[in-house]
Amino acid sequence: MSWKVRRMMAAREENSMDRPFIYMDYNATTPLHPEVMRAMVEDLEVFANASSMHEAGRRARDRVEVARIQVSRLVGASDPLSIYFTSGGSESNNTVFETARVYGPRSGRKRILTTAIEHPCVIESAKRLQDEGFEVEFLGVDPMGRLDMSALADALDPGRRGREVFLVSVMMANNEIGTIEDIAGVARLAKAVGARVHTDATQAVGKIPVDVVALGVDYLTMSCHKIYGPKGIGALYVAKGAPVEALIHGGHQEKGIRAGTYNNQGIMGFGKAAELALLELEDNSTRLEGLRERLREGIVAAVPDIHVNGHVTHHLPNTLNVSFPGAEGEAILLSLDLEGIEASTGSACASGSLEPSHVLMATGVGPELAHGSIRFSLGRSSTEAEVDYVLEKLPPIIKRLRRFSTLRPKAACDD
Ligand SMILES: *Cc1c(COP(=O)(O)O)cnc(C)c1O
Repeated sequence: MSWKVRRMMAAREENSMDRPFIYMDYNATTPLHPEVMRAMVEDLEVFANASSMHEAGRRARDRVEVARIQVSRLVGASDPLSIYFTSGGSESNNTVFETARVYGPRSGRKRILTTAIEHPCVIESAKRLQDEGFEVEFLGVDPMGRLDMSALADALDPGRRGREVFLVSVMMANNEIGTIEDIAGVARLAKAVGARVHTDATQAVGKIPVDVVALGVDYLTMSCHKIYGPKGIGALYVAKGAPVEALIHGGHQEKGIRAGTYNNQGIMGFGKAAELALLELEDNSTRLEGLRERLREGIVAAVPDIHVNGHVTHHLPNTLNVSFPGAEGEAILLSLDLEGIEASTGSACASGSLEPSHVLMATGVGPELAHGSIRFSLGRSSTEAEVDYVLEKLPPIIKRLRRFSTLRPKAACDD
């Protein structure tokens, strides 16, 4: 950790008593919706094992099945049994790649296509298969983060071994820059050569309409803690007829695809969160898009020489990612934190070296812009007053950090 970071963290501890709390990191996780919390507290007494045959077990199981219906409705799945509960987005994504590992070779398909901007749980799963001899391609994106569809079409060309592709995995909305991908278009191309289609919709559900039928996907990943529900619970949608392989072996839960005693509380919380997400989707997204625009316009007006990352139109309503060349993302983040503003940066200082965001690097902005980026992600409790507070605090922070950076050579990390 650099001296600069250490000093800022110490300062943060000192003034933590009297600063406001402005949470703008909803893409990292969300607080529990008050109604989810209430429902979960009531449900805490449902303790029986949902696989038990007795009355209490059956009652617990009924609650699990109600939640399954609620979650299936959120993504337009007509059959609730196409929903498998998992521990979250990471496990759902890993399950899909495990499926590719087992079923790909059986069908003579050992090619996998994904993108360079996926969540690490997809990238790392794909790399593991690469190590095992699968041919994995990480397709590029344009400067606004949209998948290069001609590169995808090329990779899926039957003449170019398109028929050897088992899986095409493209995220529906990017967590860092908010860009929304054309999943229906991806599915059309993939289906034409008989490949399976997966989308990590963890950031999309609850923010934009998601319909597995309209998208035409075989697999769709969700996570509950991104939609105002509890952590450690998620789901994988699996279309009828699509193969699926267990990642966790043991009992017969979830048709043998996901062993382990049912997480009653998590699943019931997920059901409630899914129901509310669907109910509030339109209001939330319209309101948040307005707040995002207010924040974007305010930053553009007050801070010179910035770069707004992500897509101009195809973006999540709540996500704004901005690069401030000449100021390091980590320093901006900590300065904002001192003012009580909780945002995020795509980069992390790991073992003494700053790694620029792989997402921003894939958009081609270059390391300086990738290092100086901040993600503001808004949510259902965000207000206009909070946005205005950020617009008051942010410009002087950037000005100060830029002045500071011209005094010293640009070093990634100090130690
Ligand atoms: C948060 C997130 C995940 C991981 O979900 P967990 O439930 O935290 O494991 C996967 N993909 C995307 C796009 C995410 O934003």
